[in-house]
Amino acid sequence: MSASALTFDDTIAAIATAPGEAGLAVVRLSGAAALEIADRVFAGSVRPSEAASHTLHHGWAVWPGERPVALAAPQGARIDAAAGAALAGAGSASERLDEVVASVFRAPRSYTREHVVELSCHGGERPAVRVLAALLAAGARLARPGEFTLRAFLHGRLDLAEAEAVADLIHASTDAAHRLALAQLAGALSDRLAGLRERLTDAVVEVEARVDFAEDVGGIEVPSHVIDAVTAVDAELGALLDGVAWARAVREGVRVPIVGRPNVGKSSLFNALVGEERAIVTDVPGTTRDRVSETLEVAGVRVTLSDTAGLRDHADPVEAIGIERTRVALAGSPLVLWVVDGSAPLGEADRAVARALAGKPTLVALNKSDRGSAVGEADVLALLEGAPKRVVRVSALALAGVTGLRDALADLLGAGEGGSRLGAATGNPRHAEALGRAREALGRAAAAGRAGMPGEIVAMELREALGAIGEVTGAAVGEDILERIFSRFCIGK
Ligand code: GDP
Repeated sequence: MSASALTFDDTIAAIATAPGEAGLAVVRLSGAAALEIADRVFAGSVRPSEAASHTLHHGWAVWPGERPVALAAPQGARIDAAAGAALAGAGSASERLDEVVASVFRAPRSYTREHVVELSCHGGERPAVRVLAALLAAGARLARPGEFTLRAFLHGRLDLAEAEAVADLIHASTDAAHRLALAQLAGALSDRLAGLRERLTDAVVEVEARVDFAEDVGGIEVPSHVIDAVTAVDAELGALLDGVAWARAVREGVRVPIVGRPNVGKSSLFNALVGEERAIVTDVPGTTRDRVSETLEVAGVRVTLSDTAGLRDHADPVEAIGIERTRVALAGSPLVLWVVDGSAPLGEADRAVARALAGKPTLVALNKSDRGSAVGEADVLALLEGAPKRVVRVSALALAGVTGLRDALADLLGAGEGGSRLGAATGNPRHAEALGRAREALGRAAAAGRAGMPGEIVAMELREALGAIGEVTGAAVGEDILERIFSRFCIGK
């Protein structure tokens, strides 16, 4: 997307529905000349330019004739006409392309706040493509990915967090991810942040007023009620950030590698969790050489389990590659499933695995419970330091304890505390980063205020926090950031 993407003197068109055989497909047109361009392509009882807003019209999509568009053809129209012809093969003037319904939305009451015409065509490979080609030949330009939503954002119809929610909504693959995106689209996050910004703005105004009228108010120190207000906002941001790990797991899914020394039952447990015979189960230690991945849904989170080679030092080069991959997999995952043979005493190989897991949130499966118990839960926990962990006794062979293992997995992912806060939660790393910066600035502001530092310094930090929070909703973002965000969208959205 170039800088020119941020100007709207042209009218854009794209197919808004997924390709393939289907009942319907929708071609969307938005911009100042949308109604006139639609006039050239839509043949029905009413011309779109004469139709009232929010009305539907039955008719035919036709190849545009020679008569010029009422408005001057936008720059690049000829190139797009050629692109249209290449796309679909030019039709002859007035040739019928499909039977359609035209929906007319006049600015500003539309998705983009521009004039919008949507042509509902038949689904399938050719109808929408040929209708799109006709619109391009009539003077529209092919939209870039996310350009309709970008226009909605730049016209103030959506804020940035809401626009991002549109992309999340399209990408959601679980009900929980869908709910999270929908809440964000409805403004749950934006409203909460707007409230926090308002309180911070009040604080800045008060601090700056005292600086300006220091003589009247008897000093430039920041009063304690302002510091308290800043601390309260900081705490609320902290609560919001506490839910990020869970919301991010919901939004993006997580990868959970299964590790453990050879022959403890990793492949068997993988199969038990996945419910299918996927990984190769064998009696020879160390024969799981390739990672086998499978995705399951745990409490609304897409969990991609990967069965890995045993995590241990090994001289066999093939085996060593598997171990190396395990280390890489560990680095990129928020938690790990460690399988231990609970029917045999812990050995040096188990301790070596535990050392590699230092500081990693870990779910321990004490497997082979059908053979009795030779390992205490406390013994395993003692080997793991720091990060959150849970121990569950299971038998992959007898399929015992597998449900409990899934529940513990959900707990470790944060389903309990994060799940209840999904309303205003965000799992977007861009948001988390900006809000983290806001908290740092608020921390500095409060510390400076408590230390009796001049109000100017406190006000400066508060303004920095306001700016960082504003980045989430797009009150203050650069074009490069917009480009990164909207490139995630598909064409036609
Ligand atoms: P991996 O090397 O850690 O992937 O271990 P496998 O899944 O290949 O299992 C190694 C051996 O342990 C196989 O013979 C399995 O049948 C056996 N095994 C796995 N889970 C259990 C279990 O819960 N109970 C018993 N008794 N045997 C198991």
